[in-house]
Amino acid sequence: MNAATFSEIGKALHEHQRVAVMSHVRPDGDALGSQLALGLSLKKLGKDVRIWNEEGMLEKYSFLPSSDLVSKPPAEPEDVDLAIALDTAIQSRLGTALTAIKSAKTWINIDHHPSNPRYGDLVYIDDTSPATGQIIYELIKDQGLPFDRAMAENLYVAISTDTGSFQYPNTTARTYEIAAELVRAGVDVGRVNQLTYENYPKRRIELLRELLGTLHFECADRVASFSLSMKTAADLGVLPEDNEGLIDHVRAIRGVVVAAFFEELSDGKVRVSMRSKDDRADVCAVATKFGGGGHKLAAGARVRGSLAEVEGKVLAEISHVLDCNS
Ligand code: AMP
Ligand code: MN
Ligand code: MN
Repeated sequence: MNAATFSEIGKALHEHQRVAVMSHVRPDGDALGSQLALGLSLKKLGKDVRIWNEEGMLEKYSFLPSSDLVSKPPAEPEDVDLAIALDTAIQSRLGTALTAIKSAKTWINIDHHPSNPRYGDLVYIDDTSPATGQIIYELIKDQGLPFDRAMAENLYVAISTDTGSFQYPNTTARTYEIAAELVRAGVDVGRVNQLTYENYPKRRIELLRELLGTLHFECADRVASFSLSMKTAADLGVLPEDNEGLIDHVRAIRGVVVAAFFEELSDGKVRVSMRSKDDRADVCAVATKFGGGGHKLAAGARVRGSLAEVEGKVLAEISHVLDCNS
């Protein structure tokens, strides 16, 4: 649980041969883009690389260069030299990728979640970085690791998706500098943005229509939430990945400070996703109360209980944090 430098991480990358690059369950663009960029760089270094995610590659990110390199973890656990967790706030969020590691000589943990408990041997957590992809870019450049257009495109998507297309307050001057460097490395901005943001399946918009039907407000319209039951998901034939980002429609409402989304899961839990527009409304603190984590302005948790129960409990906690009853 020591803080590692890029040169210590670079040294470990050079010294080991069998590497597994992993990221969290229900991956987002930052998770998959970061995994692919680092995995591709290590492959170019001549390493024996596995890029594992519990879900394998998602349909909607299959346009990422070399997306076919992302695979579901094998059922039979493997011995590796290096196990690398990217963008994964708690180690258990690696899911079946974690159980696929029989043994690893060294664990590397690279992330930007402040709530990361700093598991692993070489730990690099930068919570001022808006995306793990930004840290991977800095690591690749600092250590002179192989870099090409395919990696640039993966990192561009990683950073773009975690910054809401370079709009959220976590976006820094450095983020724009890196974006410029990625464009210079060959990223086709128009094409990549169209594939990321203007290529949704019709069922996602049908899902949005359903979700808006459940939208409700409390705390003098400062809190807004909607929810998705398993029945609605099944009726519409939506995939879990289809709802990523829909919460932004709720956050975008003037006056709304906290947006929440509740999704009923098949394991008796509810996935809670929260967004805040105000530093004083720390949704990570709310998520942590329910065993989850994340960032001040974007956090989540998986909470046992029915949809109605979990909605009630979490909304009560949000109201408490916002001081709604005073
Ligand atoms: P999401 O709402 O799923 O997009 O997640 C928002 C942020 O919270 C992300 O940075 C996640 O990594 C983090 N997060 C979501 N769910 C959990 C969880 N169950 N435990 C810890 N962190 C989470
Ligand atoms: Mn992520
Ligand atoms: Mn991230």
